[in-house]
Amino acid sequence: MQDDLRSFLGQLEQHGLLARVTKEVDPRFELTGVAQKAEKLGRALLFENVRGYGVPVACNVFSTRRMLGLVFDSAPEDAVRVFAQRMETRIPPTVVPEGPVKEVVRIGEDASMDEWPLVTHCSKDAGPYITAGTIVARDPETGIRNVSVNRMMYKGAHSLACRMMPPQHLGQIQAKAEAMKEPLEIAVVIGNHPIETLVASTSVNFGDDEYGIAGALRQRPLEVVKCETVDLEVPATAEIVLEGEVLPGVREPEGPFGDFMQYYVPIMDNHVFRLKAITHRKDPIWQSIQAGSQEDIQLQALSREAQVLRAVLATGAKVKAVSLMPMNLNCIISIEKQFEGEPKNVMAAAFGVYRWLKYCVVVDHDVDAFDLDDVWWAMATRSNAGKGLMPVSEAMGFPRDLFHIHQSKLGIDATAPLNQWEEFERKRVPGVENINLNDYLD
Ligand code: MN
Repeated sequence: MQDDLRSFLGQLEQHGLLARVTKEVDPRFELTGVAQKAEKLGRALLFENVRGYGVPVACNVFSTRRMLGLVFDSAPEDAVRVFAQRMETRIPPTVVPEGPVKEVVRIGEDASMDEWPLVTHCSKDAGPYITAGTIVARDPETGIRNVSVNRMMYKGAHSLACRMMPPQHLGQIQAKAEAMKEPLEIAVVIGNHPIETLVASTSVNFGDDEYGIAGALRQRPLEVVKCETVDLEVPATAEIVLEGEVLPGVREPEGPFGDFMQYYVPIMDNHVFRLKAITHRKDPIWQSIQAGSQEDIQLQALSREAQVLRAVLATGAKVKAVSLMPMNLNCIISIEKQFEGEPKNVMAAAFGVYRWLKYCVVVDHDVDAFDLDDVWWAMATRSNAGKGLMPVSEAMGFPRDLFHIHQSKLGIDATAPLNQWEEFERKRVPGVENINLNDYLD
């Protein structure tokens, strides 16, 4: 059987990265609060006792670079290289006759949203949301599949609100169906292996089937099964699938919702999904992702880091690591500097390829790009603010910019002067990396 959410949870558990929460938690605020605190400790959680529901909820399954390293069987900082390399190919999915996601099939009135532990995340959120659902749809003109992550708000036992707007691919596809006055069939997959969530969060060209990318990242075809009531396929080893349609010409209020920048997006008129069927495993696991959590940022960061990596490598730079963590409008790039001034070429390449980028800090190879303390240390001890800054005013930036604060950029060269390693060699304590503090403390 192919890797899936539960096999990945098993991997996390083996590495001591998953904690099972047996204490009862409220899916309204408390669950997200616990997940938020556990994320700071680098722990994924499986809530086994969610008040009012017999279904466990997985959180934080993808929230650290170490977890990402497990997905790609790589060192944490090398996940982006593996990702970038595998993204060069496509391996289409294989349709298989059956899979565990069909262990229970419920159609029509027998299918209800009321049985699932949808989570209410933040104080002003309009209600419970599905945040870890990947939406599968088919372009009505070309027949090509699209997979994306879209938030969905609980409206009733058979209805959810969903945000889908062009230029996002699902929005374009729905607009085509709507122009034909047709409902758009969709399947919402909950409980994915991290790769399927990742490809659904990756920006690719319109018409590039995300499940073909999932195959490339898995290095074998993703096994999918046909849905019961819609003409779509979903991963055979998913936990839960909602089948239904988006109604043409219908918009109803959705939101507010605490989004990825950690601000609330306002109430808006959005699309309406009508539930037709649910298929799931006998012992299904629900999944929740808090918008703006490190898990959410990481999902969006990896493909953009790959973009930046490719562009910076094309300048001839010797890149050690690229990090868009912990907030993906900013970037840290560590390099083995070859000539004075090279960090500015590196920043220019990064700003050029990734428009949202606002601050770009270039550090030496001995600085951990994923450790902000280390990056600040490099800025404090190696940068020259008189000549190492590269401001760019009024370029293209993050598009939702009511206050016009995201269009200007700043590059910061925090590398040491070239060929001065006698002065800038970092002191180190021999053997520190092998010391286990538990051996010394009570
Ligand atoms: Mn797409």
